[in-house]
Amino acid sequence: MIGTGILKGMAVTARNFLGSYFDRQRLITVQYPEERSPLPENYRNFPFLVYDGDDPRAGLRCVACKICEKECPPQCIYIVKSEDKKPDYMGKPQFYPKIFDIDISVCMSCQICVEVCPFEAIKMDKEFELSRRERFDALLMRRDDLAKSNEYYRRISPSDAAQVDAKLTAAAEAAAKKKAAAPAPAKSVAPVGPAAAKDPASAPASS
Ligand code: SF4
Ligand code: SF4
Repeated sequence: MIGTGILKGMAVTARNFLGSYFDRQRLITVQYPEERSPLPENYRNFPFLVYDGDDPRAGLRCVACKICEKECPPQCIYIVKSEDKKPDYMGKPQFYPKIFDIDISVCMSCQICVEVCPFEAIKMDKEFELSRRERFDALLMRRDDLAKSNEYYRRISPSDAAQVDAKLTAAAEAAAKKKAAAPAPAKSVAPVGPAAAKDPASAPASS
């Protein structure tokens, strides 16, 4: 019969409209911004840079390898690598991004930067209240604006963050085992016999 679909649709609307007075689950709108609907875990917006520990600069995982800059389709990432190295949060000397900017007015939230990063250093954020009155620089996010802690990442994406934590812990344990299994460097032995005679500097001192 013509119009059956419309009648079915109106019945669903009426059921939800009346039902919303008794069951909050049927309310699909909320009084934003006072009320907010929880975001699904796989919601994503723009990227941010992850740091470990308490210090955003010391703990930044990014080593400025520039892979994400090269792969970003609209080319909205701009990185300048440091000339020097600084110890990361584990004390290992690393290059770091002297400049790391993302123009979020151009970013299309594709997540390619996240997928190509070999250091788990860049992840997708869920923050969406980013509107600005200015049209230009206000949407250019600088390194210090982009840096967010691993605790923050765990809060917004618990499943993904747990997988990354497990992977990094396993890699750190494997590296520690390899280091422990490596043979100790051979000690230099003072030459004896004719070699010692040719090289008086290496001969044992006489008392
Ligand atoms: S999400 Fe996509 S467009 Fe945005 S910075 Fe990453 S690679 Fe570029
Ligand atoms: S975010 Fe990752 S891919 Fe991009 S420069 Fe830093 S370490 Fe390299």
